[in-house]
Amino acid sequence: MGCFPYSPVIFNTPHRHTMKTDTSNQLLCAADPSAAHGAETLVPITVAHGDGIGPEIMQATLKVLMAAGARIAPETIDIGEKLYTAGHTSGIAPESWDSLRRTKVFLKSPITTPSGGGYKSLNVTIRKTLGLYANVRPCVSYAPFVATKHPKLNLVIVRENEEDLYAGIEHRQTDEVFQCLKLITRPGSEKIVRYAFEYARTNGRKKVTCMSKDNIMKLTDGLFHQVFDEIRAEYPEIETDHMIIDIGAARLATRPEQFDVIVTANLYGDIISDIAAEMTGGVGLAGSANIGEHVAMFEAIHGSAPDIAGQGIANPSGLLLGAVMMLVHIGQTEVAAKIHNAWLATLEDGVFTADLHRGGVVASKSAAQTAIPLPFGSMDFADAIIERLGRLPERFPVVGYENAPAAKTAPAAKPLYVRAPAARKAMVGVDVFVHQSALSADDLAAQLKASNSAALELQMITNRGVKVWPGGFPETFCTDHWRCRFVAATAGGEIVQRDIVHLLGTLTEAGVDVIKTENLCTFDGVKGFALGQGQ
Ligand code: NAD
Repeated sequence: MGCFPYSPVIFNTPHRHTMKTDTSNQLLCAADPSAAHGAETLVPITVAHGDGIGPEIMQATLKVLMAAGARIAPETIDIGEKLYTAGHTSGIAPESWDSLRRTKVFLKSPITTPSGGGYKSLNVTIRKTLGLYANVRPCVSYAPFVATKHPKLNLVIVRENEEDLYAGIEHRQTDEVFQCLKLITRPGSEKIVRYAFEYARTNGRKKVTCMSKDNIMKLTDGLFHQVFDEIRAEYPEIETDHMIIDIGAARLATRPEQFDVIVTANLYGDIISDIAAEMTGGVGLAGSANIGEHVAMFEAIHGSAPDIAGQGIANPSGLLLGAVMMLVHIGQTEVAAKIHNAWLATLEDGVFTADLHRGGVVASKSAAQTAIPLPFGSMDFADAIIERLGRLPERFPVVGYENAPAAKTAPAAKPLYVRAPAARKAMVGVDVFVHQSALSADDLAAQLKASNSAALELQMITNRGVKVWPGGFPETFCTDHWRCRFVAATAGGEIVQRDIVHLLGTLTEAGVDVIKTENLCTFDGVKGFALGQGQ
């Protein structure tokens, strides 16, 4: 298990109460920051310049990092479009993994995912292959310098990064029905929820809100919520809350100041973190970290913006803030603070790239005194930050990551996941999925009942989850995809695999087009399957 980072030091400036303390770049990291503390030690990092605006914002970011004295030795790898077109369907060459696994730190520009089938998302591949289970996205408003309707927005979204609908297990099952499997696991849920609480504790955040949809998905999202309830009990000093994702997203969009840390599953987190970033004034402003137990990746949250690529006008701030998170991660906290504070001072001076320059307010004295032309190009913006290295912001709270040495002596975290003893599993039935469009539900039931055996008998049929037999409604629309539930013929009885094989044999002989089966099991006596709607 990795290290724990440092308490923030917020320098005492007269103006530091205009917004909440921004300590959001302190991560619970996998790497050992002590490796980076020697003044002369260069920390190898893997860098990918990406596609679209990627090379422009990476050039600007690296220029600032180097000018600030970051002790890094970048190793460049190619990813993205070039690799896709060269035949690497996941957008990365096999040898690039060697660099990532060696450096364990990845600063990545956005890439363009080619549309059309046959290509896998590189981002998803990297996150899952390297076990980057936590996606951390601080979203902070920079009012009045960056126009926003939500000047008090200052929250961090901790998004599960490896599972959920992003497992990428999709099938076309019938003429009419396509399926995507939503996988929520106990280890995945425990890891991300614990990460969120440890993050909140380490960063002085006061509240963790869990968002899920367990009123509908009682097993999958129910597990996520249950794990949240279990783990929150270990953090009594942190206020907690659970919201159904739809009302949670609505509240986030209208009252973001109610939120501090939000922990949620992959898809919900993907959506709400883009909403929250946009609410701060633009997607170009937010960086993110993808943290694993071995490797960590840092990037901007936005994409490759092909519409403005090559013009030198992209905002490098998102990638730069991602790089600041990276510097904290590798223990170069003073450089991280220097850059972060210079960047804040740059905003205060009204220096903006094209995406922001119209909405912002130039409010600091220095900006008023020097008529600064707007907007700045990406490299000019980088130069403006470099000019301000060593300066502290006057209106924003000064950011500090000073207590780095404490990281080495901080107590070790609890293990991210400890596997519980296996439950007693009993098989009590099987759902058989059938492709057919010729028969009504009643006629299908009559056909299937002929396959009842001493072990298994047909209990119900659903279509898109709604019970259509027995006692279906003629109004219910049916597709060509039927879930046919067979249960143990004796009440409370158990079945064995051979009973299912036998059932499938008789169904096949009867000409039934079986798509797939799902075993129905109890775990320590608790049903591991949902009832049909209307059952
Ligand atoms: P996008 O984030 O690239 O662009 C959305 C809008 O925001 C565009 O108008 C763009 O000009 C603007 N924008 C984004 N970043 C900006 C910046 N730094 N400065 C100024 N303006 C900026 O989203 P999209 O257009 O939906 O996606 C474009 C491509 O990026 C797609 O191929 C998508 O798959 C890919 N993408 C990659 C990543 C990643 O690599 N992490 C993330 C998201 C999307």
